[in-house]
Amino acid sequence: MNLTQLSMTELASLLQTRKISAMEAAEAYLAQIREKDGEIGAYLTVTEKIALQQAQKTDRQRAAGEELPRFVGIPAAVKDNICTKGIRTTCASRILENFVPPYDAAVVERLLENGIAILGKTNLDEFGMGSTTENSAFRITHNPCALDRVPGGSSGGSAAAVAAGMAPFALGSDTGGSVRLPASHCGVVGVKPTYGAVSRWGLVAFASSLEQVGVLARTVPDAAAVLDMIVGYDRRDATSRRSPGMDFSQIGQDVKALRIAMPRELFGVEITRPVREAVERAASVLERCGAAAEFVDMPSLRYALPAYYMISSAESSSNLARFDGVRYGRRAAGYTDMDSLYERSRGEGFGREVKRRLLLGSFVLSAGYYDGYYRNALRAREKIRREFAAVLEQYDVILSPVSPDTAPRIGKRDPDPVRQYQEDLCTVPANLAGLPAVSVPCGRGPDGLPIGAQLVGKPFSEPLLLRAAAVLEREVRG
Ligand code: GLN
Repeated sequence: MNLTQLSMTELASLLQTRKISAMEAAEAYLAQIREKDGEIGAYLTVTEKIALQQAQKTDRQRAAGEELPRFVGIPAAVKDNICTKGIRTTCASRILENFVPPYDAAVVERLLENGIAILGKTNLDEFGMGSTTENSAFRITHNPCALDRVPGGSSGGSAAAVAAGMAPFALGSDTGGSVRLPASHCGVVGVKPTYGAVSRWGLVAFASSLEQVGVLARTVPDAAAVLDMIVGYDRRDATSRRSPGMDFSQIGQDVKALRIAMPRELFGVEITRPVREAVERAASVLERCGAAAEFVDMPSLRYALPAYYMISSAESSSNLARFDGVRYGRRAAGYTDMDSLYERSRGEGFGREVKRRLLLGSFVLSAGYYDGYYRNALRAREKIRREFAAVLEQYDVILSPVSPDTAPRIGKRDPDPVRQYQEDLCTVPANLAGLPAVSVPCGRGPDGLPIGAQLVGKPFSEPLLLRAAAVLEREVRG
């Protein structure tokens, strides 16, 4: 039996019935990493010793007859912008190349409380800025479905690890699509929770008002189980919200009478035909199962991309000001005064895309331009938020593509950054509105590469979104 091909739920029942030990599970995944990660490049750090120690502890507890959480002994990967105590956390940036956090992020604490064994830290676009994982300062990650393709980004390492059987599930972060896009490109399930549902404490901040830690998993029930572990109020995150309680037991139920809206703006000319057709087929599948789908107009979505790039860059210029060579992270050699210390450390430490965003962000916040750019972006955001609320009064979920196309070839993306940003058309609206969103595989393009469908819903409607995703998963995968 190949343990690395099983879902997390299947693996957990083998562990519970003691058909396998936690050591065997961890070792199987570590062996898969040794065999596969040379060509895929999903991990920046593999924490073999830590994973085996955690597994050993689980096996001892089980042998002693202790009562244990359901998923104890399952291994997992964590995106390298989520702090792990004693384990290097680089954000795929030279500026944090040797940073070892003295604490665990809240989500990592939750994993450890559940007895999850950490396999390692996964690659990303530097600080989460990008859609291909090519903006990592350290390595390229290849898409396990086709090695000449990118895995999507910015949580590309997490998605590739799950798709290649190098982790049963992984944590990612999603500021504007970074969990959903790589999930779509690698053929796995991705969830971006409702804003405030999962603690951001210990997630290295890129754009605080937009981002959430999310889940990449092999199946919908697996994604639900992980989400269930990490949601919850945390007083250390000022934007954390008490959820009204998420009841995931409805997953497996049907979608009869589910009302689905499909925004015309996300099925337009920007979307390639294979993607449009695959998502329309997904709508028909749900209709055959009793749902009702129709097209709606959401005109304010045309402001989503500019609003997202202005707001996220503005917030990043403030968040990343802390990397100055003084407190932590890289300090350049040969500086002569304070200003040259900042300039050199930041000049050497940040990559091109990060610098571009910091410049854009400082610009839209600067006196004289603030009203014209930043304030208008906030207005557009409010309009988008209201439009979502209005549509979600009449419909239960909003269905769209995740990405305009299947995964692009490595090194072949458009050199124009604005055209790269346009790939995020379908994913950024949910972040601007703070709504939960799921990406679920719904077919393949003529190139054989996976296509994802996106479901967006009301705040805290993750269980409903996953229930609809589970129906699609069952019907599409067969
Ligand atoms: N691709 C988007 C960006 O570059 C989203 C990134 C993210 O969600 N972290 O900003």
